[in-house]
Amino acid sequence: MTDEPLASGDFPKYPYLPESMKYITRYLARLDLGHMDDRSVEEELGIGYAELRGLIGGRLISAIRDGISKVDDRYSSQMYDAVSMASFIISSIVVRASNDPYIISRFSLAEGRRSERFLLDELENNSMAGRQVAVYVFQGASGCSLTMDLELTVPCYLRLAPQYLAGWKLVNRSLSNGYVKVLEHEVGHIFREAVAKKIRGIIEGMPQPTLDPSLKGLIGDILKYKPKPPAVITRPERYPPCINVALKKLKDGENLPHSARFMLATYLLRVGLSEDEVASIFVTAPDYNERVTRYQVQQISGRKAGREGYLVPSCRKLLTEGLCYRDESCGTITSPLQYGGHTGGRTSASGPKPDSPKEAQP
Ligand code: SF4
Repeated sequence: MTDEPLASGDFPKYPYLPESMKYITRYLARLDLGHMDDRSVEEELGIGYAELRGLIGGRLISAIRDGISKVDDRYSSQMYDAVSMASFIISSIVVRASNDPYIISRFSLAEGRRSERFLLDELENNSMAGRQVAVYVFQGASGCSLTMDLELTVPCYLRLAPQYLAGWKLVNRSLSNGYVKVLEHEVGHIFREAVAKKIRGIIEGMPQPTLDPSLKGLIGDILKYKPKPPAVITRPERYPPCINVALKKLKDGENLPHSARFMLATYLLRVGLSEDEVASIFVTAPDYNERVTRYQVQQISGRKAGREGYLVPSCRKLLTEGLCYRDESCGTITSPLQYGGHTGGRTSASGPKPDSPKEAQP
């Protein structure tokens, strides 16, 4: 990593970096989160407890409801630094106390989006100092060096880039001396995901905290914004274990990898669910975006375009992707579509074949 180019005013923008955490620990060391009171908060942070709780609540609710943590700039200079970072740390602790995978992933991603905005500002202001900060925090979040010309080594690119998206595939990129050029908005995308992963790791590594009742009350407030899973899956016993495991993880709010989402979409379309029904099951994904999800399901289905849709991955492929949960009910099948004695088949633009295990069938 380069010499540290961060000033203390940068810490609230990137509060998960070790130097930021070290800075805020000084302020929080004497606060007892199990018994919060005005006097101790005032002494440490210069604002009352009710105000601090309001900031934490605002940060959490914007994160869970809107998908991006609110940037509050009412405060200035050093006071803002401490208050903002305190709200990040205490929000993270409240999220940990919720013990809810959706809340943890959603909050982490919302903080990633917040931080991404600051990073893009650094890049867009086109100064050497701004770029040094961007390169430094990128490495701190992702563990990979980014050059000042915004290039990544091939191994880093392969590790960080979302290669299931066509434009990101390595074969579609130009390489120079073992480096891949990345555009500013792509740096933002990679950075956001890396920050989300880092924050998720920090939160999941925390011990279960004991919280003041008023902080604990925030958990109920944010859970109100957790989406309810749709009731389109009515006969899960007809589905193979791989599908049920992925559906359960999705319902619990876990962030499924692209391969698992692809498996679910291809399978559920093939067994007779409509595009709208399939799109709706992803509402509980922490990074859910209705427009993008509908578009992706349409692409997988191919029905609107009048072309053949994508095939359901084979059991062998799902095994290599870590998505197979074979049990004795699978027997010797080679495709999830053969589960329960069905003969399986290809996904077709005209919809499922008569022998597919339709959801509504007994
Ligand atoms: S054997 Fe096939 S159908 Fe059964 S869990 Fe594995 S991938 Fe799914």
